[in-house]
Amino acid sequence: MSRVELSPHERAQVEVARETLAAIVGARLTDASAAAYMVGRLEVSLRSLLEILDADQEPARRCPAAHPEDPAPCGGPVVVTIIDTQNAGADGCELHAIRMLASITSARPVAKPDAPAGVALRIFRAAQHTRPFPWREGRS
Ligand SMILES: [Zn+2]
Repeated sequence: MSRVELSPHERAQVEVARETLAAIVGARLTDASAAAYMVGRLEVSLRSLLEILDADQEPARRCPAAHPEDPAPCGGPVVVTIIDTQNAGADGCELHAIRMLASITSARPVAKPDAPAGVALRIFRAAQHTRPFPWREGRS
């Protein structure tokens, strides 16, 4: 089981959940409107906690070069920055860097300082043999 790394906002949501639980424990739920209020608080708290858990599973944590429509998980650590003609850059793992290069024109891979030797050239060559937006193949 992986531990979740929490942002300050997420830690605040967890704190709200703890306060909600403490309030429930001390609450007298014989009053219908008080019970409804507590159920509402519980629902909001549970939702925000589940969002934190879902964010940990989802492709939101993929490298910046991953296209939103591409369902593939990263093929390893970030090894290059893809620089486009506007000099805008996106860091990418090998798989997503290849796919991004294949899908946009006149971009180039620049190896990260700690990347394995030759990785940028390998990505550049692989992109030349990769169709643009390859994840769309096989769809109607
Ligand atoms: Zn990736």
